[in-house]
Amino acid sequence: MELGSPHFPFDNSYARDLPGFYVDWEGAKVPEPRIVLFNAPLARELGLDPEELNTPEGAEIFAGTRKPDGASPLAQVYAGHQFGGFSPQLGDGRALLIGEVIDTSGKRKDIQLKGSGPTPFSRGGDGKAVIGPVLREYIIGEAMHALGIPTTRALAAATTGETIFREGPKPGAVLTRIASSHLRVGTFQFFAARGETEKVRRLADYAIARHDPDLANAGDRYLGLLQRVTARQASLVARWVLVGFVHGVMNTDNTTISGETIDYGPCAFIDTYDPAAVFSSIDHGGRYAFGRQPMIAQWNLARLAEALLSLIDADDPDKAVESASGVLNKFPDLYRKAWLDGMRSKVGLKSEEEGDQKLFEQLLTTMHEQKVDYTMLFRSLGAAAIGETGSARSLFQELEPFDAWVSDWKERLARESAQPSELKSGMDRINPVYIPRNHKVEEALQAAETGDYNPARQLLEVLASPFDEKPEFQAYAGPAPSEFGPYRTFCGT
Ligand code: AMP
Ligand code: MG
Repeated sequence: MELGSPHFPFDNSYARDLPGFYVDWEGAKVPEPRIVLFNAPLARELGLDPEELNTPEGAEIFAGTRKPDGASPLAQVYAGHQFGGFSPQLGDGRALLIGEVIDTSGKRKDIQLKGSGPTPFSRGGDGKAVIGPVLREYIIGEAMHALGIPTTRALAAATTGETIFREGPKPGAVLTRIASSHLRVGTFQFFAARGETEKVRRLADYAIARHDPDLANAGDRYLGLLQRVTARQASLVARWVLVGFVHGVMNTDNTTISGETIDYGPCAFIDTYDPAAVFSSIDHGGRYAFGRQPMIAQWNLARLAEALLSLIDADDPDKAVESASGVLNKFPDLYRKAWLDGMRSKVGLKSEEEGDQKLFEQLLTTMHEQKVDYTMLFRSLGAAAIGETGSARSLFQELEPFDAWVSDWKERLARESAQPSELKSGMDRINPVYIPRNHKVEEALQAAETGDYNPARQLLEVLASPFDEKPEFQAYAGPAPSEFGPYRTFCGT
C-alpha cells in the first residue's frame, strides 16, 4: 500500500541562505515509529493538519525515519561555553532541522527533530534520545507556554521501537520541537572563534532579518542586535525567576537569540524559595543555581558581544568594546525592572514606589527562612488581598514576620486604586495554581517508561490552564511529599 504523505508548506530559509553553516543530513532508520503525544492545537497554529499528521505516516516523520516532501533536513553547527569552558565545536549531535514553516500568524517557525540519530556533530554520542527526557521537555515546555513564558514547544513525541542504554535500558524516542529559530549565542561563537568574520556577519544579518527586521537598514544594526538579545534575555530570565524555574544548564549553546527558553534537560521548579536551589546532578559548583541565573545570562551575553565585536566596529576595537560594554552594562537594570514589574503584578500593585523592592525582599526572606512553598504562597495572596489571609498564613510556622509583612503590604495596596474584586482576579491570572511539580513530572516519566502515557497526558491537561483552580486537580497543586526526598535531575543525554 502506498502511504500518503503529510503536507508541510516548507520555506527553508536557513538551508537556502546559510550554506556553510550546517551539513545536510537525514534521520536514522528506526524499527517501530509510534506517536505517543501529539499537540493538535500547535499543529493548527502552524498551519498543519493534525488529521494528516497524527497518523502512521506522521509517526515515521516524527520518529525521524521518513523525510517529508519538501524537507531539507540539516544539522546546524555551533560552539558554546559549557559550565564556563569553551567547546569550539558542538552542533546538532542528535537533532535535525527538517524545515521551516510560516505559522497562521505569519511567524517563521523551525521544525526540529531531537533524538533522530547521529550526525557529524555527535562527538561519540549515539545521537539518540530516550522517552523520559523527551517527555520532560514536552511537558515543561508546554507548561512554560501556558504560563506565558517565551519557549520552544513540542509538536510531537514519538517512540522509535529501539531500546537505548542510559542508566539501564530505556525506550528510544524523538521530540519534534518548534522554535522561532535555533540560533544560539553559540552559533555566533563558532564562527567568531575561527576568525570567520564574514560568516559572523551573514549570521547576524540572517538573525536580524528573522528576529529584528526593523533593524535591517540601521547603520549600527549589530550593536542593535546585541541590545535586542540583551533585552529579550533580561525579560526571559526575570520570567523564569518570577515563576520559580531553574533552567539548570545555561550554557551559551542553550541561550537563544530569539529570547525563547530552550533545552529542558536538567530543569526543575523550586518548591520552597531558595536562591541557592540546584537540581542538576552535574552542577556541582551551583553555577546555574536559581538565584545566579540573571548573572549567568549577562555572562552569556558578554560571550555574544565578543563574537559580534568585529562587526560592531571593525576599525576601532576599543570603540567596539566600549559600545558593547555600554549595552551589557544595562542588563542588571533591565533585569531588575522586569523582575520588579513582575513582582508588583504578583502582589497586586500597578504603580511604582521606591520602597517596593524592599517590600518584596522582606517577603522572600521570610519565605526562605521558613521554607514556604513559593507557588502556593503567591497564589494565596489573591485571597489575602481581599482579607482572606487564612491559606497564606497556614503556610508559615511563625506568623509574626508574615503578619507584619501583610500589614506593610496592605498599607501599600491602600495607595492603589484597584477594586478589591479586580485585585484578586488580576492576581489570580498571574500567580499560577499549577506548575510542573517535580514529583508529578517524575511520576509521568516513570509511567511512560513502562508504556503508560496517561499520567503525562493528565499532567499536560492540568498544566494547560495553570491559573484556573479545579478541585479535581488538587493533587497537582502542592509540593512533593517529604518521602520524595531532595530532587536530582540529569541531562537528557
Ligand atoms: P545539550 O546538553 O542537550 O544542550 O547538548 C550539548 C551538546 O551535546 C549538543 O551539541 C548536543 O547535540 C550534544 N549531545 C547531547 N546528547 C547527545 C547524544 N546522545 N548524542 C550525540 N550528541 C549529543
Ligand atoms: Mg543544547
